[in-house]
Amino acid sequence: MSAATTRSRTPDRLCAEAVDLARAAAEEAAAPGVVGEHVGLVAEGDRVVTHFFECKELGYRGWRWAATVARASRAKFVTLDEVVLLPGPDALLAPQWVPWSERLRPGDMGPGDLLPTDAEDLRLEPGYTGEAEPPPNAPVSEEMAELAEAEDAEVTPGTPAVQPVTPARGTIAAVAEELGMRRARVLSRYGLHVAADRWDDSFGAQTPMAQAAPASCASCGFLVPVGGSLGQAFGVCANEFSPADGRVVSLAYGCGGHSEAAVMPKPPQPATPVIDETRVDPFPLRPSPDSGSVPPTGDEETAELGHS
Ligand code: SF4
Repeated sequence: MSAATTRSRTPDRLCAEAVDLARAAAEEAAAPGVVGEHVGLVAEGDRVVTHFFECKELGYRGWRWAATVARASRAKFVTLDEVVLLPGPDALLAPQWVPWSERLRPGDMGPGDLLPTDAEDLRLEPGYTGEAEPPPNAPVSEEMAELAEAEDAEVTPGTPAVQPVTPARGTIAAVAEELGMRRARVLSRYGLHVAADRWDDSFGAQTPMAQAAPASCASCGFLVPVGGSLGQAFGVCANEFSPADGRVVSLAYGCGGHSEAAVMPKPPQPATPVIDETRVDPFPLRPSPDSGSVPPTGDEETAELGHS
């Protein structure tokens, strides 16, 4: 028997000696040839001992076949209790299971995937609570109160699929929709903050691109303003050559594609040619009068050419 791994209690002698019984049981449960050396035993209780055998299956490095044997009080025969494959202290184990909601990472969603949003999601809050209802003694005309009550049914909680069609312009429901109150839930203050932090990390003033930019997005013609409170600090870049095209950018962000900061260079002016081949140079065929001979005129030249 190899060196035994024992707990504080002393294993029963007959059970500890039943290695062959335990091995036979392990070999019966395992595939042929995968039960290795006896690597230890532990006393599970009075007259109950578990024998461990090395597992030689390739995918189970460090695992051990555990065969538990037992003996009844005052009995001489040891019998098999159970056989199971257990991980040893240095066993190769799968990573701990993590719920999908904690495993999910940005960008993991694919076409057709559905991502349920927790009812208690801190990033959202009710879009319409009715808390802004005027108090009963407010100077709101009875006619307006009836109108609001009639249109209240159009403020419908639920998914987009259950929302009614766009309300008629000028109605209270239309105004509620414009203010974002017609959705069952809207971004909470916390949701706004985490979104702003995330966007600022990606396309904010501290990024290397912004640090090297000639000017900020606030003065760029490619910036598309966004509505709501986030519009005070963010916009959408619409420059196809910018790394932030189609992304929400901080007004303090910037890139080399800024519409005004970089001036298009003028095309270089060619230098004056040393030999000008485009100009006609006079070339006298005869010496000029100053030099003792008569310079040729165009007519004489023509006449001479005609006589010849
Ligand atoms: S082109 Fe550059 S500077 Fe202009 S909005 Fe886009 S990221 Fe900002």
